[in-house]
Amino acid sequence: MEKFSRYWKDEGIVIRSTNLGEQDRLVTLFTRERGKIKALAKGARKVGNRFGASLDVFNLSEFMFYSGAGMPIITQGEIKVSYRALASSVERWLEGSYVLYLLDRCWQWGKPEQGLLDRVVRFWEAICSSERGDAYPFFLQFKLDLAFYLGITPQLESCVLCHRSAEGESYWSHGEGGLVCSSCAGEVQEKIVFPQDLRAILGYLSSPGRNCSSLRLTLAQFEELDKILSDYLSYQEGRKIRSWHDFRSFYRGAVFSG
Ligand SMILES: [Zn+2]
Repeated sequence: MEKFSRYWKDEGIVIRSTNLGEQDRLVTLFTRERGKIKALAKGARKVGNRFGASLDVFNLSEFMFYSGAGMPIITQGEIKVSYRALASSVERWLEGSYVLYLLDRCWQWGKPEQGLLDRVVRFWEAICSSERGDAYPFFLQFKLDLAFYLGITPQLESCVLCHRSAEGESYWSHGEGGLVCSSCAGEVQEKIVFPQDLRAILGYLSSPGRNCSSLRLTLAQFEELDKILSDYLSYQEGRKIRSWHDFRSFYRGAVFSG
């Protein structure tokens, strides 16, 4: 474990926070130096506290920490970039929150962020400037990025078993980690049919020259691909990762039932 001075500065975002006692907040952060950490913000619930909005979601902030005997304590927070447009509607808020949910569910405590923080911020930028429905490719892109940073990039160009390019009908296996050709399909028990159009879309999103803004998907294509990638992450990580559809339905229900 790397040594840190008792006071240190770090840039990051808030994944979530909960109230603690009368005055404090317990905050889960995703920072450049330390990855996903829990920290205590003392006095953060007091009126006129020194944190301002830096402990709210959808901000890239600079934090000062103090490392005592227990968990790190946040002593200051200053917003560097705010993505407050994400708070302008329930739909935007849910879209922006979905990546935080994915980080919360998938990323290990203390694992270095390795560049994923910038992917989150870029996702927010893209969502802020997209029309409703245009955001679909960015969701898929983020899930592929997440799989990459988790070290579980699915194999899409060729069959995971024989490594030959798969022509015609092909399958997807969560356990084998990607594409399975029709010749090898008999060797894999748990697999799903992977239609050609979906394969082409994921292939494009995995290519270096990809441009999400120019990619148009139908809702059906998006939902099917998003479910495949969510189930894949669930399988690989050993815990349930909700698809965007399930996440949205769950939280919209929670918001509108008060
Ligand atoms: Zn094969």
